[in-house]
Amino acid sequence: MYRTPLNDHFKTYPLNPAHKIIIITAPSGAGKTSITRYLLNKYPLLSFSISAATRKPRAGEEDGVQYHFMSEQAFKNKIDADAFVEWEMVYEGNYYGTLKTELERIWGLGKTPVLDIDVKGAIHIQQQFGKNCLSIFIEPPSVEELKKRLESRGSETAESLATRINKASYEISFSHQFNKTIINKDLEIACAETEQLIKEFLGW
Ligand code: 5GP
Repeated sequence: MYRTPLNDHFKTYPLNPAHKIIIITAPSGAGKTSITRYLLNKYPLLSFSISAATRKPRAGEEDGVQYHFMSEQAFKNKIDADAFVEWEMVYEGNYYGTLKTELERIWGLGKTPVLDIDVKGAIHIQQQFGKNCLSIFIEPPSVEELKKRLESRGSETAESLATRINKASYEISFSHQFNKTIINKDLEIACAETEQLIKEFLGW
């Protein structure tokens, strides 16, 4: 029951033209978190959308900062209550999802939410928000390079590395589904290119 293929079971969200969304999506290790961080530091009118997640917090992570950490049962209750605009089992039995209340909180502050989410989640948001959202796919220069980056993080076991690499190859095959693609060969250039796309989209 709690699995999401690419489908249309997320209901259309009631659209307000003033409510924009920016999605930064990519395979793990492509640099989307660094790019997202750069944007959020520079533009106070952008706000990180804090997802709900069932994985355990890593060292240094805090509830309500990186994620709203919750139990699997609490997460499933939220699915049943239709509290998510999208959710996925992204890795190893862990659920991640974008809460409607989180988007509404950010819009309520007069800001634009920036979502750092996986490829399937990004497609589901696009289906619901259409022109109100800008989706940017960050592509690693190659799967080989991605492998090197993930290895250098040192946080992966051989098994989790293989899972992430397989998933990455699959995700790269979806890149054409997004509004824009940025190839992250050089982080500084990729940040500047992403920034430019966002400024154009928001009319800044
Ligand atoms: P991590 O566990 O390393 O923080 O994140 C794993 C993956 O989950 C990342 O690719 C991240 O972008 C994705 N993710 C985080 N929040 C969400 C969410 O709300 N929905 C979806 N679909 N993916 C998410």
